[in-house]
Amino acid sequence: MKIYADDQLLATGLRGGTLSRHTGNMRETAAQTPVYQALDIPADKILHIHQTHSDKIILISSPSEAQALAQQPAQEADAWVLANCPGWGAAILTADCVPLFLWDTTGNFFALAHCGWRGVVRQLPYKTAEALKQAGAKGPLFAYLGPHIQKCCFEVQADTACQFSPQSVLTQNNKFFVDLTTEIRLQLEKAGLTAKNIHAPAYCTCCDKDNFFSWRRDHIRQNLLSFIYKPL
Ligand SMILES: [Zn+2]
Repeated sequence: MKIYADDQLLATGLRGGTLSRHTGNMRETAAQTPVYQALDIPADKILHIHQTHSDKIILISSPSEAQALAQQPAQEADAWVLANCPGWGAAILTADCVPLFLWDTTGNFFALAHCGWRGVVRQLPYKTAEALKQAGAKGPLFAYLGPHIQKCCFEVQADTACQFSPQSVLTQNNKFFVDLTTEIRLQLEKAGLTAKNIHAPAYCTCCDKDNFFSWRRDHIRQNLLSFIYKPL
């Protein structure tokens, strides 16, 4: 199993990352169960959301809150903040959007956000980092941007490009390309993260067909799984 993960995240004792496409389409929760079993992670302790490209964040502050939520149908939201929830984790799905992992040095506070361009324009990365701090995370915070569509492939129309910071838009031959990595970096730095604590390897889901699904490339509803989990 190939997992794109961040060494510093794993060093806190957290588990998590983004799976390559080799494990198959993770769009259905049932498809994810064998993956968690193979990783020796309890699948019923991983929370799911119904993603809508919003800026809505679900905060879970205790294992009992997590347990209550796990018994309900998935709510509409695009980010998780888990505070003091050992034995619990959360998942999101992507296919070009950015899986954004945030955590503190104790590993007791962590977040996972599904950041498509609409969520990024709605400041979801900034709001998720702020929510993590409000939940009690003490600095420094760290971030990992999992595999996502890079500026090489993310061409947009002018009316989309103009919604981003000028630093995050490249213009070539009258075409506009959005750099989601740069835009998310700017938002996280606004929330107080230092540049060196934001890790963003340049894996492009659209360029690398061997390893990733890509909506932009294939227009098929196939998703990569990202998860984060705090073992007991
Ligand atoms: Zn690319």
